[in-house]
Amino acid sequence: MATKEILNYIGGAWQKPVSGDGLPVINPATGETIAVSPAGSQADVEAAVQAAAAAFPEWRAVPPAERIQYLFKFKQLLEEHFDEIARIVTTENGKTLAEARGELRRGVENVEVACGIPILMQGYNLEDVARGIDELMFRQPLGVVAAITPFNFPAMIPLWFLPYAIACGNTFILKPADRVPLSMIRIVELLHETGLPAGVVNLVNGGKAAADALLDHPEVQAISFVGSTPVARYIYARASANGKRVQCQGGAKNHVVILPDAEPETTTQIIADSAYGCAGQRCLAVSVAVTVGDAQQWFRDSITRTAAAMKIGDGLAQGVQMGPVISEVSRQRIQGLITKGTQQGARAAVDGRDAVAAGLEHGSFVGPTVLDGVPAGSELSETEIFGPVLSLIHANDVDEAMAIIAKSSYGNASSIFTSSGAAARKFRNLIPTGNVGVNIGVAAPMAYFPFSGWKGSFLGVLHAQGRDAVEFYTDKKVVIERWPREWSRKF
Ligand code: NAD
Repeated sequence: MATKEILNYIGGAWQKPVSGDGLPVINPATGETIAVSPAGSQADVEAAVQAAAAAFPEWRAVPPAERIQYLFKFKQLLEEHFDEIARIVTTENGKTLAEARGELRRGVENVEVACGIPILMQGYNLEDVARGIDELMFRQPLGVVAAITPFNFPAMIPLWFLPYAIACGNTFILKPADRVPLSMIRIVELLHETGLPAGVVNLVNGGKAAADALLDHPEVQAISFVGSTPVARYIYARASANGKRVQCQGGAKNHVVILPDAEPETTTQIIADSAYGCAGQRCLAVSVAVTVGDAQQWFRDSITRTAAAMKIGDGLAQGVQMGPVISEVSRQRIQGLITKGTQQGARAAVDGRDAVAAGLEHGSFVGPTVLDGVPAGSELSETEIFGPVLSLIHANDVDEAMAIIAKSSYGNASSIFTSSGAAARKFRNLIPTGNVGVNIGVAAPMAYFPFSGWKGSFLGVLHAQGRDAVEFYTDKKVVIERWPREWSRKF
């Protein structure tokens, strides 16, 4: 297969990056190099910022109801090319085609919600705050805004930001993850077909150099970031030191609690999907299952059977339940963490370290893994593995289980499986994570709710999606007007 040239989309045209080569883009199922990302540079970012800044005055003046006409066309084109895009996601990321379709569906939902901007962006007002004086609040766009996104959802995560940013009247620059640039290239090609004015959306490919240039550029007003926590902290510190508005979604270590009264079969199936879906490379994937009381025995047995039976392979192939992890580096890191877990006292009830998918000897596969008896508080119980590894911990009661979760430095998501309303309500009320599932394995908020995240999983105030996105991408202007019938200085 010929490698695809990775171009930038700047000022409405595809351009060769100024910078030289960066990371290879590898199909993780086959090991084949399918493209080479540019390294990214300050010069590339400068060109994108110039284009976005030049487009802003006219774009902010386009009425919101007209701005969203481009998004309606965009949604239509995404639907028409749905399977084509999903195949690109699978080819560069490794997840199964069903998972790629699922991620694209969640991305399209954000386009749909942003089409409500003529209502979502409205301010409020009050007549006669004093005699003859009215007060009005308008939301206005910020200017040039940028997003820096991770490898694990190449299509969905950029769509957490792009539709809202431009619907609000901003102009937008995306720097996608350099390991998966192809999905957004295709999506931006479709956006171009809508006739969106040049410079409203720009795509700059590359790695750290391109990200840093966005963080430092005085014209960029806001940064949205999704990725690992150490990078989130760095981005938050550097962009906010430069006076920008910043929202950074970081890494995760998600727990589920399984009470003895949970329904065994569906509970096991849902938790297996959560732990092994997208090969565990989801920020909402469950990483630790905390069993309570009698649940320990049946859950250990059933999750072991389920994990051992899963079919791994190329995500494009029929019947494959789990694809590879993103890279060889990632595969080796996950294998090393499984080894560490066994050294720290866990037993590999299902061991995916040496998994090979038939006919795909160059693929980066780790099989579904169950580590039983991981000591609470051990290094493995705290580390984000970001691979198909489920650790089992046992607790005597729900309070002990909740205390284990509360100790985590992350706070992205947690779930409880039970048929007791009282236990579920207590969990929902007290657990310190931003997304909570009750008999749900992946507690992923819909596009019209904020994608929350607490503690080490989020830095900032306003989250991605829905109303939070509109607040993030606008500033409030308050106007106080006096239009009295008769001029007077009396109040
Ligand atoms: P990453 O932090 O390595 O990279 C994310 C982005 O930052 C990429 O665009 C990358 O090019 C850029 N980048 C990386 N290092 C940088 C640096 N030193 N300076 C400037 N930019 C840099 O993350 P990843 O490996 O692509 O994604 C996986 C991580 O993302 C996991 O930790 C996962 O939990 C997290 N994630 C979180 C959420 C959430 O909603 N909280 C969602 C998806 C993924």
